[in-house]
Amino acid sequence: MAPRPRILIVEDEEPLTLLLRYNLEADGFEVTTAARGDEAEITIRESVPDLILLDWMLPGLSGVELCRRLRLRRETERLPIIMLTARGEEGDRVRGLATGADDYVVKPFSVPELLARVRALLRRVKPAEVAERLVAGDLELDRVQHRVRRGGRDLHLGPTEFRLLEFLMRSPGRVFSREQLLDSVWGRDVYIDERTVDVHVGRLRKALGDSAFPDPIRTVRGAGYAFDETYGSAAATGNAA
Ligand code: CA
Repeated sequence: MAPRPRILIVEDEEPLTLLLRYNLEADGFEVTTAARGDEAEITIRESVPDLILLDWMLPGLSGVELCRRLRLRRETERLPIIMLTARGEEGDRVRGLATGADDYVVKPFSVPELLARVRALLRRVKPAEVAERLVAGDLELDRVQHRVRRGGRDLHLGPTEFRLLEFLMRSPGRVFSREQLLDSVWGRDVYIDERTVDVHVGRLRKALGDSAFPDPIRTVRGAGYAFDETYGSAAATGNAA
């Protein structure tokens, strides 16, 4: 399964945590939070996220110390870390870099700038998950502009259909069960009937409309759905025939 990249926010200023959570989730990330350094250390031991936004000054255990400890462990020695520092702490940046953070953002920062840095850092480690455009055959999904085009034509997809297509396109050929799709596209805390997935796949197919190309969504009986990995190449063969 290729779930959404998971970001852990370690920050004791609650309004900032909420602001970051809101924007990261809107940008397609899965977010967990911790308000203390020692609490974050436990959270990371249980499950390693894809990236950490780590505040410099924290109760329990400082961000600098947590970063240093994470670099000493094999599971987290390469974990992408962006340090959030308050103005006036820049003088300590050199010390922080020696501690092993990948990037720095000084508060107050612009949220779009931070998001750009998150994507840039993740792109270095997980290219497919943060690519801005996913392309297959005549189908093009732009994650930044939230736009889908097929054969140069703009398609109008509902938000669920968009996320469903995005999720499937990220792992062409991979079959996902209805349960996996519910977890990844709808979220783990949502309890809905698995048949809901069928309804939305139906809507997605309808929204994709007619094309000279075959249906890019493959139904795998008894298993689930996949984005057809031959989509585009098969169509090209069809055109030539
Ligand atoms: Ca702080």
